[in-house]
Amino acid sequence: MSIKVVERKILEKNDIVAQSNRKAFEEKNIFAINMLSSPGSGKTSLIERMIEFLRNKIRIAVIEGDLQTKLDAERIEKYGVPVTQIITNGACHLDAILVKEAFLKLCDYDFDILIIENVGNLVCPAGFDLGENIKVIILSTTEGDDKPLKYPLAFLKSSALIINKIDLLPYINSSIEVIKNNALSINPRLKIFETSCTKNIGVENLCEWILNIKSENKVQN
Ligand code: MG
Ligand code: ZN
Repeated sequence: MSIKVVERKILEKNDIVAQSNRKAFEEKNIFAINMLSSPGSGKTSLIERMIEFLRNKIRIAVIEGDLQTKLDAERIEKYGVPVTQIITNGACHLDAILVKEAFLKLCDYDFDILIIENVGNLVCPAGFDLGENIKVIILSTTEGDDKPLKYPLAFLKSSALIINKIDLLPYINSSIEVIKNNALSINPRLKIFETSCTKNIGVENLCEWILNIKSENKVQN
């Protein structure tokens, strides 16, 4: 079998499980968010700020994906929300089967929003459907404003772009306007947020948007 055929078969199998995940989320009225980014963009810090804002309004659970260590799950655990860690042992993305297993570990809890922190990587996570309602992509200002052009698929498949670490803009050679223009040239439908987790900027807007699309989603079903 050629590599292309093997890849296609892996993705086909993934899509079948992703559909069953989607059904399982729907049945429990859970809105699932798949968070994509490069390593070090601030995903876990952003999730911590989101939990602080959302936890008195809605029930949240988190699936943490990492190549190694339970460090991120331990950080989330401190906020008292259900969390489970997937360690991929070197695999550079989450797939639907891993998420299905992680979701089973959360089945004793009732929650409304499931945040899935994917492995830090902008390439293959974009190709693997996990059964989520939306993908969001986080790009920190320090990564360079040309990144949307280099990793178009991740931007194309996402509903929102979160430009993180905006407090660092005065110190770096990166333009927020260029980031936005590049991202919108790939995907004009992207909803864009600007955040800083250390200064707690923009997280409220992001969370309000999530609460809105969650309730719109409910009306559609
Ligand atoms: Mg993390
Ligand atoms: Zn991968």
